[in-house]
Amino acid sequence: MAHATTIIDLARLSLSHGEGKRLDLPVRLEPMEMGGQTYVPTPTSPTVRLDISRPSGGFAFRLRFPVHLEGPCMRCLDPAAIDLEIDAREVDQQDTEDEELLSPYVVDDELDIGRWAHDAAVLAIPVQLLCRPDCAGLCPVCGESLNDSDPEAHRHDTGIDPRWDKLKDLKLD
Ligand SMILES: [Zn+2]
Ligand SMILES: [Zn+2]
Repeated sequence: MAHATTIIDLARLSLSHGEGKRLDLPVRLEPMEMGGQTYVPTPTSPTVRLDISRPSGGFAFRLRFPVHLEGPCMRCLDPAAIDLEIDAREVDQQDTEDEELLSPYVVDDELDIGRWAHDAAVLAIPVQLLCRPDCAGLCPVCGESLNDSDPEAHRHDTGIDPRWDKLKDLKLD
């Protein structure tokens, strides 16, 4: 298996204007941080498909790969997993002042495909990554997961966080 890469030297591809190239190669992905939690890709170096074309005066890229992520459910912190299909595009024009046409992942003829793949995967993570679509989350009073308990059976008499009971006795005068 080829060595996992994070940088592609565009100059070494020696593409002329109008030419294109397709590369299938393993790219090492760093774990992803979302809302203070960490999501780990499996495999850590998925094989990505990179299409490079050379329109006049620059580069155009398309990056595609599937990735499986594992980490805590954003509601109850139980293990959760998701399969994502990444499909991202970038352009990088030379001799332009227009930032829209400059890729942040291209510096000095090098494409930082590791960082791009990482950012594209982070963008694809849903706002709510849950252990199951109807995850009931944690009880706001005692912090227990409500997924395994009968909602009728799981009740607190006061409806007040027990930590507040002490405060109730304090006299403020
Ligand atoms: Zn959950
Ligand atoms: Zn509770």
